Amino acid sequence: MRVVLIGPPGAGKGTQADRLAASLQVPHISTGEMLRAAVRSKTHLGLQVADTLAAGQLVSDPTIQVLVKERLRLDDCNNGFILDGFPRSVHQAETLETILRETKHPLNAIVQLNLDDAEIVSRLSARRVCNRCGRSYHLINNPPLKAGICDLDGSELVQREDDQEMSIMTRLQVYHRQTEPVIGFYRKQGRLTIVDASGPIDDVLQAVLKHLQGTLV
Ligand code: ADP
Ligand code: AMP
Repeated sequence: MRVVLIGPPGAGKGTQADRLAASLQVPHISTGEMLRAAVRSKTHLGLQVADTLAAGQLVSDPTIQVLVKERLRLDDCNNGFILDGFPRSVHQAETLETILRETKHPLNAIVQLNLDDAEIVSRLSARRVCNRCGRSYHLINNPPLKAGICDLDGSELVQREDDQEMSIMTRLQVYHRQTEPVIGFYRKQGRLTIVDASGPIDDVLQAVLKHLQGTLV
C-alpha cells in the first residue's frame, strides 16, 4: 500500500501517518522529520537546511528529491509506505511519478486532509514533538501519558522552532501558494480523496482506513 498524505501544516498528516503505518505495517516517511533529524545531528544537510526550516520556507527541490529517492529505495518500502510532507509542489509530484515509474510501484492512494486555517493555528500552537523520534502530541487534544515525555521512547517533548506564530503564517502562505496546486494535479488524474480532518483523531483515521480498504477491492 503506497499512500501520499497531503494537507496544510497541522492538518494531522504526521499523527495519521504514524497510526496508518502501524496498522498497515509499512514505514511512515516524513520528509520534515528526516530534515529535522539532520538538523538535530548537525550533519552537512542539517546545517544547510536549518535556517530554511526555522523560517517555514521549503528546502530546494534537488535537496529534497535526493533524500526521497534514496529513502524510497530502501528495502522496508517494498510493501509500501505512507509518505507525509512530499510532494509539496507540482514539480515534486512529477518527480515522485518518475521515481515510482522506475520502481514500477505506482501510488495506491492520495489522501488530502482538509482543515481550515483558524484550526491549523490552534493545533500548531499547542503541538509538542518528541526530541528523538519526532512523534507529534497536542497539549489538549492528544497529550502524552506523562506531561513533557514521549510515550514511545521517554524522550523530552519540545516545541518545534517553526511552530512559532511568524513561521506558522509563512508556512500557511507557502502551502496555499506552492502546495495547493498539487491537489489540482492529482484531482485532474482522478486520484484524489478528500477527508475532513476536523474531527477527533480516531474518526479521521477510520475515514482514511475505510478509503484505503476500498482501494484494495
Ligand atoms: P502535520 O503533520 O499535518 O503538520 P500533526 O500530525 O503534527 O500535523 O498534527 C498537528 C497538531 O494537531 C498536533 O499537535 C496533533 O497532536 C494535533 N492533531 C492531529 N490530528 C488531530 C485531530 N484530528 N484533532 C485534534 N488535534 C489533532
Ligand atoms: P513538516 O514536518 O512536513 O511540517 O515539514 C517541516 C519543514 O521541512 C517544511 O516547512 C520545509 O522547510 C521542510 N520540508 C519538508 N518537506 C519538504 C518538501 N517536500 N519540500 C521542501 N521542503 C520540505
